[in-house]
Amino acid sequence: MSKAIMLPRFSVGVGDRFAHQAKAQLAACIKAAEAGVDVVPVWNKSNREHTIIGTEPTQTRAAADVAVASLGWKQPYLVDADHITIKTVERFLESCDFFTLDVAEEIGRAAAPDDVDAFVARHPELIGEVRIPRIAEPFHTTGAFLKDVANKFLAAVQEAGRIYRFLAEHKGEGRFVPEISMDETDSPQTPIELLIILAAIADEKIPIQTIAPKFTGRFNKGVDYVGDVGQFAKEFEEDLAAIDFAVQRYGFLSNLKLSVHSGSDKFSIYKVIHEAVVKFGAGVHVKTAGTTWLEELIGLAEAGGNGLEIAKEVYREAFAHAEELCKPYATVIDIDYNRLPQPEDVSNWTSEQYTSALRHDLQNSAYNPSFRQLLHVGFKVASKMGQRYLNALQENEEIVARNVTTNLYERHIRPIFIGH
Ligand SMILES: [Zn+2]
Repeated sequence: MSKAIMLPRFSVGVGDRFAHQAKAQLAACIKAAEAGVDVVPVWNKSNREHTIIGTEPTQTRAAADVAVASLGWKQPYLVDADHITIKTVERFLESCDFFTLDVAEEIGRAAAPDDVDAFVARHPELIGEVRIPRIAEPFHTTGAFLKDVANKFLAAVQEAGRIYRFLAEHKGEGRFVPEISMDETDSPQTPIELLIILAAIADEKIPIQTIAPKFTGRFNKGVDYVGDVGQFAKEFEEDLAAIDFAVQRYGFLSNLKLSVHSGSDKFSIYKVIHEAVVKFGAGVHVKTAGTTWLEELIGLAEAGGNGLEIAKEVYREAFAHAEELCKPYATVIDIDYNRLPQPEDVSNWTSEQYTSALRHDLQNSAYNPSFRQLLHVGFKVASKMGQRYLNALQENEEIVARNVTTNLYERHIRPIFIGH
């Protein structure tokens, strides 16, 4: 028996929509290692993305393997089947060794009443005064509260159990890292709810190594966090405490950690995430998928010539199909349509104007979050361009790669994992 795959303390989820930036992304992890902090890459791509772009998980795996071999990366790396369900898991079996079990759809669907009662009976420790070490105030719960939470989450956890057992049977236990995600749902989970969910996951015997709750505040795609940073910090620390407690109490693997989805570009909470993981000696996984695709556009625009023309064309088409492109992402974008520039104006823009509007630089007064969010969901336009887009990436490989690496390292990895 070979050793079980264990996700290291710090890991970054990187997305590579067109499978051309794996090397540039890995270069950012190499910079972290050179700075003395190990951050391992996890290439993640959801079924939704594969379907929109028309790619297969084997391509994500191949791109990761090539990058690792050519840059001589000796640390672990993984390929994540992001947000899969029992219906979509199959195509990822071969290529992936990290599986994000998405059970958000089941949240709120009541489990069988007998199962709910059995859960409540099995967990008297979650009723009454619940003290979690390192959380100042104890929680006060009732049997009715526990039952309510079970009614909201137990069916979802049972569904995760079904997907997990399917994977264990087909890949073998320990041959993959399981994560459970509950982020794509309406309301955030409180720390006590997280603890109750973890108890249910332990009952299902799913050896998760990461869990992605929905945090308080808005995590819009590709732009900064919107919400109360102080409240986020408090809840994030309490979540870390709940995880520590669950590891002791319910026997999870000691590397169990939080996973922050839609984690790219949340600059205003990186400092508190960093401080909290240092304070707790905890790990964290941060998914940053979409930000890389925007760096491709920035690189093309910066290159000028044909690259800039392609970047303008992507905007023109995204603008024309805004409604259709935004629909699948309605809960995770906030575009102010009055702030979107007219494509005719953009067609006269210089490289500088385009990159200033798009690059996530809060110091730059020309930065336009609506423009950025529309382009964030506009990758479908580039995928429709097909080879023409890929050729532009190849022709401008160096300038694109420089933007991808710099963005991932300077704006993400450094503040989150290194802290300065
Ligand atoms: Zn997610």
